Parts: sequence; structure tokens; C-alpha cells
Amino acid sequence: MDVYGLLGNPVGHSLSPPMHEAAYEELDMDARYVTLEPEAIAPAIEGANALGVSGLNVTIPFKEDCLPHVEPDPLAKRIGAVNTVDFSGPDGSVPTGHNTDAEGARRALERHGVSRDGASAVVVGAGGAARAIAFMLADDGATVRIANRTVSRAESLAADVSGAAAHGLDELPELVSAADVLINATSVGMESDESPVPADALHGDLAVMDAVYRPLETRLLREASACGATTVDGAWMLLFQGVAAFELWTETDAPVERMDAALRRRL
Ligand code: NAP
Repeated sequence: MDVYGLLGNPVGHSLSPPMHEAAYEELDMDARYVTLEPEAIAPAIEGANALGVSGLNVTIPFKEDCLPHVEPDPLAKRIGAVNTVDFSGPDGSVPTGHNTDAEGARRALERHGVSRDGASAVVVGAGGAARAIAFMLADDGATVRIANRTVSRAESLAADVSGAAAHGLDELPELVSAADVLINATSVGMESDESPVPADALHGDLAVMDAVYRPLETRLLREASACGATTVDGAWMLLFQGVAAFELWTETDAPVERMDAALRRRL
């Protein structure tokens, strides 16, 4: 049996186990996906490697701390965080580290026909999710503007992302009115009816994605939808980061619709 899993703390409410196990069932794979809450990341990675674990996802608080204990791919190195570890290398080799949050956001936008090349994109937030999203947007040819509550964090992210500029949240109305793509990568709206962007700044030519997936329809998405914007909920990014991890580990096309159904049934 192949063993996959998620390292984090806490991981009790994670949606990754049902999403991945739905894929194993669909493809008739002899595999399990477990959740683990280790004290520290280094012995957990070493132990998983010794035990023959096939692949791990990594979440808060270990995404950044994981980096020195794996061989990161260039994107994970640039983002500075790993959310997927692959142990499929030869015996005794260092596991490889990847960041599928960027690919998850890319495929979520693609699925909704949102093009990045030449687009003017506004990312709200400068934490882990924002980093992955900002690198993806710049790599795909968008001009990226990063607005964050703590402007110094926006500045340090913008310094790492090609062509990006940093802003405060007070500049959002002006930035959003000139944007094609708007992405909320803050936790604002998570289990509360708040939006990080004033409703009157939204317009019908925008594509709006929210990284928040609880609730599925955040206030931002509700207000964006009301003015005719294209909306992409946070479950799409969550789904496609899992799809990308599954495909990296198994080198098999993921059963996307089955994974999506398993995820949305629980949201
Ligand atoms: P993080 O690293 O802790 O960053 C949090 C961000 O939210 C920071 O930019 C922070 O601003 C901002 N923020 C928090 N409270 C705020 C408030 N009251 N007003 C304005 N800004 C506020 O977290 P993260 O890992 O990036 O996650 C951010 C959100 O994305 C979470 O809701 C998470 O669940 C979601 N997420 C979704 C996916 C997905 O696949 N859909 C993947 C990853 C994350 P400061 O810098 O000023 O503190």
C-alpha cells in the first residue's frame, strides 16, 4: 500500500484526506492519505522517508521550515515555502520539495477562462498564499500589484516578484478600478461576512478569485458577482493544489471531477 499524508498543526479539519482518498477510490489504487501533527518538521520528514512514505503535503506552521530539509524545486525556492514533498527518488536521496499552491491558483483561473498574460492583477495580502499567487501571476505575464495591511510585508514580497509594486489597503479602490484580475489572499472573510475590498471599487470587467473557501461564497465574491464580475471561489485553488500534488506523486492524471465532488460535499 502507498502511504501519503499531510503534516501540519492543526490538521483535524483538513479537506485533503477526502479529496485524495476519492482519487484513490476512483482509480482503484491501493493507497491511504493520513494526517499527522508532528512536534517538528525535520524528524517528521526523515522518519517518513525511512518508513517508505510516498508523498506528503505540508501546511501551517511547517511550510517555510520544511525548505532546508528537502531539495526544493526552483519555484518552491523562489516562493520560500514547500507544500508538497516527494519521496520517489532513489533510496537514500533527499526528498524533493514543491509548491503546488501556485499551480493550484493558476489552474483555478484557467478553469474559469481568466487569462494572466498582459493582465493587470491586484493581490490583496502578503502572506504565504499571496506569495505563491504573486509569483504565478508574474510568471504568467501579469503586472502584479500587492496591497497589504502591513505595507512593509507587501514591499518585501514585491521586491521578490518581477515587476511587482507594493501598496497599502487604502489604495485598493484606485488599484481595483484599473485592474483585470483581483485576488484576495488574506484571511478576511473567513467565517465572517467581511470583505477586504470596498464594494464600490468592484466592476463587471473584473475576474475575482478568493483564496478563502469557508464560506465558499465570501462577501467579496457575492459583491463581485452582483456587479457582473467573473468569480472563482477558494475551493478551486484548494482542489487544484491537491490535483497537482497527486499528479506529481503518481505521474497519473488526477480524476479532477471526483476530487472536486468529494471536496465540495464537505464545504
Ligand atoms: P498568512 O501567511 O497568515 O497571511 C495572512 C494575510 O492576511 C496577511 O497578508 C495579513 O496581513 C492578512 N490579514 C489577516 N487579517 C487581516 C485583517 N483583519 N485585515 C487585513 N488583512 C489581514 O496566511 P496564508 O497562509 O497566506 O492564508 C491566507 C488565506 O488564504 C487564509 O484564509 C487561508 O485559508 C487561505 N488559503 C487558501 C488556499 C487555497 O488553496 N484555497 C491556500 C492557502 C491559503 P498582515 O501582513 O498585515 O498581517
